[in-house]
Formats: sequence, structure tokens, C-alpha cells
Amino acid sequence: MALKIDLENCIGCGSCVSACPFGALALNADGKAEVNEACRMCGSCVDACPVGAITLEKEAAAGTDDLASYKGLWVYAEQRDGALHEVVFELLGKGRELASAMGCPLSAVLLGHGVEGLADALFAHGADQVFLVDDPALEKYSSEPYAEAMCALIEKHRPAAILAGATTAGRSFIPRVAVREHTGLTADCTGLAINADGLLEQTRPAFGGNIMAAILCPDHRPQMATVRPKVFAPAPAEEGRKGVLVREELSLAPPVVQVVKTVRALENELNVTQADIVVSGGRGLGKSENFALLRELADALGGAAIGASRAAVDAEWISAFHQVGQTGKTVRPKLYIACGISGQIQHLVGMNSAETIVAINKDPDAPIFDVADIGIVGDLFEVVPALIRALKQG
Ligand SMILES: Cc1cc2nc3c(=O)[nH]c(=O)nc-3n(C[C@H](O)[C@H](O)[C@H](O)COP(=O)(O)OP(=O)(O)OC[C@H]3O[C@@H](n4cnc5c(N)ncnc54)[C@H](O)[C@@H]3O)c2cc1C
Repeated sequence: MALKIDLENCIGCGSCVSACPFGALALNADGKAEVNEACRMCGSCVDACPVGAITLEKEAAAGTDDLASYKGLWVYAEQRDGALHEVVFELLGKGRELASAMGCPLSAVLLGHGVEGLADALFAHGADQVFLVDDPALEKYSSEPYAEAMCALIEKHRPAAILAGATTAGRSFIPRVAVREHTGLTADCTGLAINADGLLEQTRPAFGGNIMAAILCPDHRPQMATVRPKVFAPAPAEEGRKGVLVREELSLAPPVVQVVKTVRALENELNVTQADIVVSGGRGLGKSENFALLRELADALGGAAIGASRAAVDAEWISAFHQVGQTGKTVRPKLYIACGISGQIQHLVGMNSAETIVAINKDPDAPIFDVADIGIVGDLFEVVPALIRALKQG
């Protein structure tokens, strides 16, 4: 937005000066209205001017011109060390459905160096075409060259919408892309659909998870959304499915940030987003040491990841790496065992897609029982040891 004062029409009456709540207008030496940096574009002066000499003009931004010329749905095909991230297959699954509703092809964007071999997996999982940028500057992930490459592709091919994983990399470079392209981005979507006007309807929790907001980006392109891993089911592979590989040559500047060494945090811990079984503990565990009981149960189950509620993380009984929920991770295991977790909405949004949910809680009215397939009302310090004994016996 920009505030414009037509000095020829301005009669120097001072109405705008008294109307401005921010003290941003004054009369200059020639008796004409003048605006300073305190202006918040509220429009009070526009309404107050008796001769229509002040206007608020919307500046045309990139991504707002000729919206109909933006076509196609893209999925960012995140790869790390030459392996595609699981979220890519989930986005391709959802993307296929959305692309059909939009009546457009589904494309994947593959950025990296020496990663052309991954294109076949993208075709097999539903991509009709793959835009490949193979460049030494993209060998190690760094947000600048990745954002530069994505923006160059957007400006050349003008996609209508882009989906990316809300992973560490996605969270760091996709917002840069949205800012550079002057478009909107809805982070951490839990639902995506195409509405009656053909727009991408992006649903995500808002106001602390108490409401689900449906968000549209009607005036800018591309429409951009990130989705956490495990929110959507992965697209099944159709071996031998073919698509079109589009190789793009870009002259990318070498990254300013050099990755010297990658150190993996918590090397020996199973990640809750990847495990088939997650055993989670909440405030009901009472203290940090009691997570040992859950680890014992995890071992008796033949290996399970340890999850936690935010209450357990906030109490510093376990690290945030394990947190499940709105501000933690979203999980979709075959089996989720919630021990001493009440089941507040912010926890449920992170685990209610698990295939089977077992809840152990001494409060029969705990909301976790509303989503549980098997509910055990009892003291976890009695129930969990009994489960461990039963598993070891049989
Ligand atoms: C913006 C925002 C984001 C949030 N994000 C998250 C998030 O990502 N993940 C998350 O988990 N929370 C999140 N929260 C917090 C959330 O609202 C709850 O406060 C939290 O999930 C509660 O954790 P809890 O169930 O472990 O604790 P409580 O709600 O205190 O529940 C403890 C449960 O343990 C049971 N219990 C106690 N002793 C025993 C026993 N011996 N045996 C069996 N049961 C027992 C009790 O009956 C009770 O139901 C968020 C909140 C906000 C506002």
C-alpha cells in the first residue's frame, strides 16, 4: 500500500492532520499536506480530505498479475543425502487428488546435485513431470540457493499452487520463497482441498488449536502450503509409471553458508514420526525417571519410539525431540500407547491418525478415551508392568 497526496488538489485545510491518529500528517512550508514514516496506512486521512486529494493505492506485487496464467500443482521433492523424504510421497498422494480437482498436471520439484535417479520414484508415486535442478550449489542443503532455485522455477513456469513438507528444511526455505514471490504461505496444514472457485483451501489449527481455520490465498500466486510428515497417507507406488523429466539449467551463486559437518542429534533414539509403535508418556508419569518404565514397555514390544506430551517436556522429564502434538510432531504409527496423558486437543491433533490407539489413564472421563480404540482405566504403574509381564511371557 502507498499513500498518495495530490498536491495540486490539496487545499491545505488541515483536515487530514487532525484526522490522523498517528500524527503522521503535517502541513509543509507551502501549506500542503505531507506524510511521514509514522503513517500506518489506516485511511483516516483519505476519509477526512474534503477534496479527495489523498488516496491509498495498492502496489502491484509480483504474483498478483494475470492469476489465470498460473497453472499446475507442484510438490517440493525434498531429498537429503540422495534419499527422498517420506513426506514427499504423502504430498504426492494428496497432490494427485488436488491436481485432479484442479484439472491440471501434478509436478515435483527436485533440487540437488547428482539426484536425477530419484525422478523415477517421483513418477512411480504420481508425478506427471519432474522439474530437476542439478547444481553443485545445491549439493548440501542451504536455504539461500534452494530458495533462489525455487523462485527461478516459479517465475519461469508460474505454478498455481505449491505443497512442501513442514520439515526443518521446508520450514526454513519455503517462507523465503513466499516472501520473495509476494505470496501467502499457510504453515502446518492439516487439511487441503479445492473449493468451488478452484482455490486451494488450506486448513490448520488456530487460536491454540481451539478452532480449525480454512485459509485461502485468492489474490496472489502461487498458493503455498506446508504439511507436516504423517498428516496424509503416502501415495502407493506404481512401478514403471513414466513422466516427463524437465532439466533446468540455472546459474546459482555458491552458498554463502558452508556446511562444514552434520552432527545428528540423539543418534540412538528412534524418531516418533518413523516408528510403527509409539509409547507416549504424560504428566501422569510423575517424574523423569518413570520414562524408564515406558522404555521397558517399548523393548517388550520389540522396539518402539518414546513419545511425550508437552506437559512432560515442559517439566523437563524428556527432551522436545519426543513431543507429540500441535507444537511437537505429528505421528501416524500402527500402534500408539498413551500413558498418563489426558488427551487435550493440542496433543490429539498430533496422534489421532494412528491406526490403533491404546490409552491408559486413571480418570475414566479423560478425553483421551474419546479417540482410543482400547481404553484401560487404571493406574499406569500397575497396568504398564502387567503389560510388560504379559508380553514377556507370551
Ligand atoms: C498453543 C499450544 C500448543 C500446545 N502444543 C502441545 C503439543 O504439541 N503437545 C501436547 O501434548 N500438548 C500441547 N499443549 C498442551 C496441552 O494443552 C496440554 O496441556 C498437555 O497436552 C497436557 O499434557 P498431559 O496430558 O500429559 O497432562 P495433563 O493434562 O495434566 O494430564 C495428565 C493425565 O494423567 C492422568 N494420570 C495421572 N496419574 C496417573 C496414573 N498414575 N496412571 C494413569 N493416569 C494418570 C490424569 O488422569 C490426567 O488425565 C499445547 C498447548 C497450547 C496452548
